[in-house]
Amino acid sequence: MAIPSFEPVTLAIQGESSRFPVRRVFCVGRNYAEHAREMGHDPDREPPFFFGKDAEALSQESTLPYPSLTEDVHHEVELVVALAAGGRDLKAEDVRSAIYGYAVGIDYTRRDMQSVAKKLARPWFLSKSFIGAAPITPLIPAATLGHPREGRIWLEVEGAVRQDGNLNQMIWGIEETVAILSTYDELLPGDLVFTGTPAGVGPVARGQAVRAGVDGVATLEMRFT
Ligand code: MN
Repeated sequence: MAIPSFEPVTLAIQGESSRFPVRRVFCVGRNYAEHAREMGHDPDREPPFFFGKDAEALSQESTLPYPSLTEDVHHEVELVVALAAGGRDLKAEDVRSAIYGYAVGIDYTRRDMQSVAKKLARPWFLSKSFIGAAPITPLIPAATLGHPREGRIWLEVEGAVRQDGNLNQMIWGIEETVAILSTYDELLPGDLVFTGTPAGVGPVARGQAVRAGVDGVATLEMRFT
């Protein structure tokens, strides 16, 4: 072997000693109307679109390195869906049975880098994917949590509320989103889907305390160093 082999990224599971191995990380863009508007888009006319992050961007550490080549890292709090089963061309009504559980995550974005990429019609990938780009809470199995479809989704920086929405404000619901995603490629057990962020995205500086949560699901606390 050319280099020592390594294990897949795994996530803690609330109430269990076993861990959840992650295969791919998909993210939905502009899935809350007010956030679409704050990014300069009309939420009524656009179907969902997707981008990705490396699984290595996930972290369950409470302190993370502030990424390089940016002075404008933006927070996006999101409900994350973890898939226990996959498939292609899933029907919306078949999605729930494929869901293992849920977590709260932050889709950190090097917004200055992303803005340049957008302007030059270049990929977003490295503006969205870097070590520490996706802090995430332990997974909560749907077997105990159920399937949250409403509830406050919020984020605070240094105790000041920056994002304050509700899961019921998603433009494309979780079942529809996963079903549409499964038309792009076969989904696989271990895939994660970040389901979009409410309005109020903005910068986080080194050292600032970030708290984020979905009421009834989980709360996440972290800071960049
Ligand atoms: Mn996002």
